[in-house]
Amino acid sequence: MALIRRNIWTLFVLFVVLSSVMLAVIAVYRWQGIVHDAQAHHQARVSLIANASHSAFLYQEMLLEFIGRELLQDITHNELMNSQHSPLLDHLLKINTSITAFGLALPDGELVRVSSNGDLENLPNLLFHPASRDSFLHALRSPKMVLGRTYFMPALNEWVIPLRKALRDEQGNVVAVMTAGVHLERASDVFSRPLSENALDNVVMFRDRDGYIQYTSFAQSDNIHDLYDDAQDNSVVNAVQLAVQQVSKLDLAALKASGEVYPYRVNRGDRRLLGAAAFDNRFELWLISEVDEQLVWDEFCVSFRLYMVLFLVLQVLAAWLFRSIANKEKEQREQLVHMANHDALTQLLNRHSLSQITDEYFKTEQPFSLLFIDMDSFKGVNDNFGHDCGDQVLIELARRLRVQAEPDDVLARLGGDEFALICPHVERDVLSVKVERLIAAATHVYSVYGFEFQLGVSVGIAIYPEHGSNLNGLLRSADIAMYEAKKQRNSLCFYADNMEKQYLRNIKIEQALRLALQNNELSMVYQPQVNSQGRLLGVEALVRWHSAELGFVPPDQFISVAEHCGLMLPIGNFIIRQTLTEMHRLQTELGQVFDVAINISLRQFTQPGFVESVLYWIDQQPLARHSITLEVTESLFIEDIDLVLPLFQTLHDAGIRISLDDFGTGYSSLSVLRQLPLDELKVDKSFVDHICVDNTARQMIQSIISIGKNYQMTVLAEGVETEEQANLLHSFGCDRFQGYYFARPMRVDDLRIYLQA
Ligand code: C2E
Ligand code: CA
Ligand code: CA
Repeated sequence: MALIRRNIWTLFVLFVVLSSVMLAVIAVYRWQGIVHDAQAHHQARVSLIANASHSAFLYQEMLLEFIGRELLQDITHNELMNSQHSPLLDHLLKINTSITAFGLALPDGELVRVSSNGDLENLPNLLFHPASRDSFLHALRSPKMVLGRTYFMPALNEWVIPLRKALRDEQGNVVAVMTAGVHLERASDVFSRPLSENALDNVVMFRDRDGYIQYTSFAQSDNIHDLYDDAQDNSVVNAVQLAVQQVSKLDLAALKASGEVYPYRVNRGDRRLLGAAAFDNRFELWLISEVDEQLVWDEFCVSFRLYMVLFLVLQVLAAWLFRSIANKEKEQREQLVHMANHDALTQLLNRHSLSQITDEYFKTEQPFSLLFIDMDSFKGVNDNFGHDCGDQVLIELARRLRVQAEPDDVLARLGGDEFALICPHVERDVLSVKVERLIAAATHVYSVYGFEFQLGVSVGIAIYPEHGSNLNGLLRSADIAMYEAKKQRNSLCFYADNMEKQYLRNIKIEQALRLALQNNELSMVYQPQVNSQGRLLGVEALVRWHSAELGFVPPDQFISVAEHCGLMLPIGNFIIRQTLTEMHRLQTELGQVFDVAINISLRQFTQPGFVESVLYWIDQQPLARHSITLEVTESLFIEDIDLVLPLFQTLHDAGIRISLDDFGTGYSSLSVLRQLPLDELKVDKSFVDHICVDNTARQMIQSIISIGKNYQMTVLAEGVETEEQANLLHSFGCDRFQGYYFARPMRVDDLRIYLQA
């Protein structure tokens, strides 16, 4: 169980781990996808600005070349420095809005023609002015157009890139340098739109030669002057070059010549950047579009938030699911534990938990008493009204016992109709009061399925440690005491050492009795019943058992054992059939008819179909029904009167006689007698014994005889041993006599001789 429980949570952990791994894989893919998209974006942007700037510069170069040639012609035709303003330049300036100023300088740096927006008074010498000297010198050396350092034009409030193009004669000597300032935002549509909105997402154009920035898309920054005015230490360009080289796997020269766009990722300071770069070989420019990876990461985080939420929801759902499974399982486990410790029918503790609880008592050696409670006549309910009915009775009994039990008591069902109650009291008087109360509660009428039962309980009591040192020993002692209590029914009995012997004897009897039938150890004897003249009227069939193991066992001893251990039915059937067979044979043989009395145990009586089978067996022989008497002990059926009354009636209606055995020892009231269809009262031997000496016994017999007469019943006195007794009984009006004085019980062969005599 614990294993399953642990497994459920192991499974959950596994689920969490697996789903986390899955989430991580998704995250990695998602991140790579976003990085890839970002790089593609920057590659496209670099490609766009590279093309745009290249064609813009190319156009400007052509224009400078053309204008320069025009102006040179003009200069040669007119006097040099006639007028530095050039109407042509002014005109071109008007058409080219991207150009902020034009100028033509001689190789010595002196400007000889400028557009009219130039300050004629303060025209700088391009060779000597620190800001222009470097690019001017470079232009003198270069066949291509050269870009100067981007500078700020306060008049226009714009950043301008100076362009210089050397003009050469046929020999290749520089004759002049055409110069202009271009405003990139107006030179190309691409630059006219804001390329980025963020300092972290940037497009930059670097001059390869010295790392000066020619253009940066992020122009809002406060340090823009620093950006353009400060020579870069080339580390930015170098790092990009290196990264791009690694991606392209080309050497620097080949890379520059390729004109391709390459993605890269670099660390700059504490930042990590992602972007793409291309080199404009003609204008010696690095074009870079890059973004701080933090932005990409932010984008990733936003897009991943949904996955994260889904993941968390899934985890919560799974946790809930696993918890409900675990709870369900826990519930089942508790139920199983409950089932293992409780009796399913009554919900009382079972023997197993009783043993666990008493183990604790034994450990502490704390004295306690064990009550063995057994329902009287419960089997009859089960047999006659079905097990459903029996179950309801048991549930009700359990309920009553529970009500009676005190908080410190432990009540358990041992099985069948047996219950045990552990009680901390050991004083006999306290216990007696308690058990009397318990018996009284258990004896109330049970109403089940419209039937009413008058049942009771017998209670055997054993005390720890006197009567047993462990549960089995105590249960055994209490069971022995209960067995004793059963003799009285509805009573209690404390265990006593002498009971043990009887108990062991009964166990031996039970074991041997199980083999008695198949070993033909049972036989019948018959005791004559006579009238006052000594003439035989009938016989009482009495069973005899000569056990191979125990020797002769009197019926007084084994009949009660047979009743308790369920052997009464087969033995009873043997008695009836054997008696009927032997008596039918004898009567036929002698041509003599007499009554036959058979003792019937209540166990037999309450067996379903009993009456039918008895009638069947009688008719089989065939014997006259009115010659058959069934003897039933008063004390046995008195509590089950509702049960036996209809059976008595059926038998009576079928012509069978019924005799109430041992009359006077039970508690039959006259009202009970009146209800029953009885044919005979059998006065118990105990009264006959004392009839000659005891006045009370004499009066008792006299009243029994008159009651019997009153109800038109035959009165039979049993155990008549002397002539005196016989005479006295006769004088009281007794009809029949049975006893050693007349004849002892005898085998069928002896009975034949007796009858013939
Ligand atoms: P019970 O039905 O009252 O039987 C009469 C008992 O008294 C018999 O003892 C009988 O032998 C004995 N008895 C008869 N006359 C005298 C006498 O003058 N003096 C003395 N001292 N005893 C006399 P038994 O056969 O030992 O039976 C004892 C009890 O066992 C019976 O009492 C009956 O309750 C039971 N029992 C005997 N046979 C059967 C049987 O076949 N079926 C059933 N269910 N019970 C039987
Ligand atoms: Ca009898
Ligand atoms: Ca009797």
